Amino acid sequence: MSETFAKPIPRVADPISLSRRYVAAGGMRCPVCNSSHISSHGKLALIGASATQGAKCDDCGSSWREIYHLHKIADLVDRRTQS
Ligand SMILES: [Zn+2]
Repeated sequence: MSETFAKPIPRVADPISLSRRYVAAGGMRCPVCNSSHISSHGKLALIGASATQGAKCDDCGSSWREIYHLHKIADLVDRRTQS
């Protein structure tokens, strides 16, 4: 019966709370193992007012997708001529 425990089944414990913890930490730590050795992979993909970016953990090998939403604009230059 010891074989039952030989290969742990990969699982994602409560993905919603892991996502919240990841966002609260500013996207600086792996949501699975909490390592700071994470990196982006692939291109930032713009979809309407949102963008997604792949990310992965260099320590445990987990991967996920970051989701960004349009927040505000800055440095607006109005080039209409004054009359
Ligand atoms: Zn990790």
